[in-house]
Amino acid sequence: MNRGSESEILIVGAGPTGLTAAVELARRGIIPRVIDKKDKASTLSRAVGINPKTLHLLAESGVTEKLIEKGIKVRRGLFHAKDKFAFELDLALSPKPYDFLLALPQDQTEQILISRFGELGGTVEYDSRLESVSQTSESVSVSITSRGPTRDSQFQCVYGADGIRSTVRDSVGIGYEGIEVEDKWSIVDFDSKTWPYRNELSLFLYGGGRVCLIVPIADGRYRGVADRPNGIDHMPSGLKIDNVRRTGDFSIWIKKAATMSKGEVFLGGDAAHSHSPVGGRGMNLGIADACEFAKRFAADELEGYANSRSDEVSATIRLTERGRFMATRSIPGKFAIMKYVLPLFLGNKRLHQRIVRTALDVSNPAKQSVSGQFASDSSSKSR
Ligand SMILES: Cc1cc2nc3c(=O)[nH]c(=O)nc-3n(C[C@H](O)[C@H](O)[C@H](O)COP(=O)(O)OP(=O)(O)OC[C@H]3O[C@@H](n4cnc5c(N)ncnc54)[C@H](O)[C@@H]3O)c2cc1C
Repeated sequence: MNRGSESEILIVGAGPTGLTAAVELARRGIIPRVIDKKDKASTLSRAVGINPKTLHLLAESGVTEKLIEKGIKVRRGLFHAKDKFAFELDLALSPKPYDFLLALPQDQTEQILISRFGELGGTVEYDSRLESVSQTSESVSVSITSRGPTRDSQFQCVYGADGIRSTVRDSVGIGYEGIEVEDKWSIVDFDSKTWPYRNELSLFLYGGGRVCLIVPIADGRYRGVADRPNGIDHMPSGLKIDNVRRTGDFSIWIKKAATMSKGEVFLGGDAAHSHSPVGGRGMNLGIADACEFAKRFAADELEGYANSRSDEVSATIRLTERGRFMATRSIPGKFAIMKYVLPLFLGNKRLHQRIVRTALDVSNPAKQSVSGQFASDSSSKSR
């Protein structure tokens, strides 16, 4: 199939996944049509952690530079057992130049992607809802309602980045199997003048499997996450909140699409997978899907897309589930292990480095150059 002229491709959803696909296609000279049912760009801070792999992936488009200008470089992870400091993860042990986790609210990440897409000649059509998708061997037909009657259009290819309740996925009959975790989690975005960890991530584990994480998101502003509803009641005892900006409870789905492609319809981000927020991987995984999709679209190699993402998606779900289990279960001796055993392990620099690489999703640099995971996409056809 001859891919690549304007609007041969429709991206449904202007969250981080859809916007990344849009930027990555546009920088290769392919301007996709991008629609979103929202009436304007989101102002919700949902994901706050951008990992080094994402920074590598978005460097070539110039997005990384802008993210770093706005974000906070988090180089230390401080773990506490029942309010008492237990050990520190030195995140700066990950390879340079991105030897940190970048903290930035998701709406700001999306704004940077939207303006880069605009600079490259694209635009996001808001108030435009995808109603349904169907396909023949020739093209993909979509029905879109955009400030008026529903209209049908044809595209060569559709990228469904329309989130966890994806219409694209459901329309083409791709299953989304897994579990819905019974217990709700919550977030609290707040200001505090006195919280001491202005540039550090701090995790607190308590009895009964209670967990609380605090991440800085701006100067004197923080995101708290708790593994139960009404997060404000579950923050560490030493925290003095001066102003609450936002609170909310959320459910966790651990699910994976049966496949990430069917004919000329492809899925990415939450439309294709969802898991717990442990490890902060959701948005990062969607961005990686989108980069792979755009690279393959430009190179006319889309048939390998679903397989190429499958292992990483499954590994991320396994890892985040292991993390959720360890953090939220009452494991005998858990606090003693945190205070006395883990600090001993972390005294070994190589082991410490391996743990940091797993936590930040950094592959072994030797492997990276072989697989080309972070290498520039010179294989793609530039248009
Ligand atoms: C409270 C909370 C905290 C989180 N924290 C983190 C974190 O720290 N780190 C992390 O990596 N992840 C985190 N996540 C997960 C992260 O927010 C998601 O993984 C990420 O938003 C997925 O991006 P996406 O673009 O795939 O989907 P979404 O962000 O859900 O975007 C989908 C878009 O599609 C649009 N859409 C849907 N249906 C249609 C339709 N029919 N027609 C047109 N448009 C449509 C929607 O309006 C939306 O804009 C968190 C999530 C929540 C809820």
